[in-house]
Amino acid sequence: MNKRDIKSLLPQELAAAMGEMGEPAYRSRQVFKWLWSGVRSFEEMTDLPKALRSRLDGAFYITAPQIARKLVSALDGTTKYLWRLADGYLVESVVMRYEHGNTVCVSSQVGCAMGCAFCASTIGGKVRDLAASEILDQVMFSQLDSGLKISNIVMMGIGEPLDNFDNVVKFLKMVNLPECLNIGMRHISLSTCGLTEKVDKLACLDLQLTLSVSLHAPDDETRSKIMPVNRAYGVDVVLDASRRYFERTGRRVSFEYAMIDGVNDTERHARLLAEKLAGENCHVNLIPLNHVEESPLSPSTPANQKKFIGILRAAGINVTVRRKLGPDINASCGQLRRQAESVSPG
Ligand code: SAH
Repeated sequence: MNKRDIKSLLPQELAAAMGEMGEPAYRSRQVFKWLWSGVRSFEEMTDLPKALRSRLDGAFYITAPQIARKLVSALDGTTKYLWRLADGYLVESVVMRYEHGNTVCVSSQVGCAMGCAFCASTIGGKVRDLAASEILDQVMFSQLDSGLKISNIVMMGIGEPLDNFDNVVKFLKMVNLPECLNIGMRHISLSTCGLTEKVDKLACLDLQLTLSVSLHAPDDETRSKIMPVNRAYGVDVVLDASRRYFERTGRRVSFEYAMIDGVNDTERHARLLAEKLAGENCHVNLIPLNHVEESPLSPSTPANQKKFIGILRAAGINVTVRRKLGPDINASCGQLRRQAESVSPG
């Protein structure tokens, strides 16, 4: 019999599965609580009868990643984790300390199929989706290892969350539960390159999370050059879906825009972006490009960045620039995994 992933089960699903084993509901509640306290084996569930522990072990497995590498910034305490999953594959999470609370950035897939030209996570393509349990584990074990209470989550690590829709939605539903990790939807941001059918599907769930859309260019010619996904979901299609998301959920959408020297950072780009977002209830988050070894692209100059911001602000657009955290452990997302890939599982 194939063992089931017990940490990807909602409380009611666990109760049903254990009910089939003849166990009462209170037992499943006990088990659920143990799982989300960070145990790595059924053996550790010391208030369960030994016989039940061994029957559970026969029916289920408990996911619990190992720390393959950990880097802590001496400057601001930002901590990057490289996790080794049960099958040997690697993903990253980053814990950032902000005034409004500690935030963890989690991965949703091993690798990524989207192919963005500036991103390290997509080199080598997508290997597999993460289970809901494996996304939740990044939050829980980051919290346990760092000793920092996590209050916010951003799904901006390796992978395209909406390309792993069902597991990501399961993750969102579970993370919110008081008996799981108790992190509310308003404290969660999900970043997508703009898979619009999935954006609509997400909007219909009325989850109250913040949607971040990786726009990176205001016109199809520029966006297609750096984001192959634009050939399927062009700028206007993505902006329309973002508008629908706002109308349906009342949540202001955030547009991410990595500033790339000579590619998307000219005055023409700024003016067109301002024109396309005019009157929208949205927010633009400019990201200074992180250099990726394998890519020839480089960050915009400070002068160009300043000019770009000036044009957007003059048009009444809400703009912020993402602060660079952990500059001394600077490896942009996906690069720790790349560096370790030389010892990738066979
Ligand atoms: N697949 C999701 C999550 C990606 S990571 C998405 O596309 O949104 C979160 C953000 O970081 C995205 O906006 C992504 O485009 C951006 N990003 C990726 N590589 C980057 C780099 N080298 N420098 C700056 N931003 C980058």
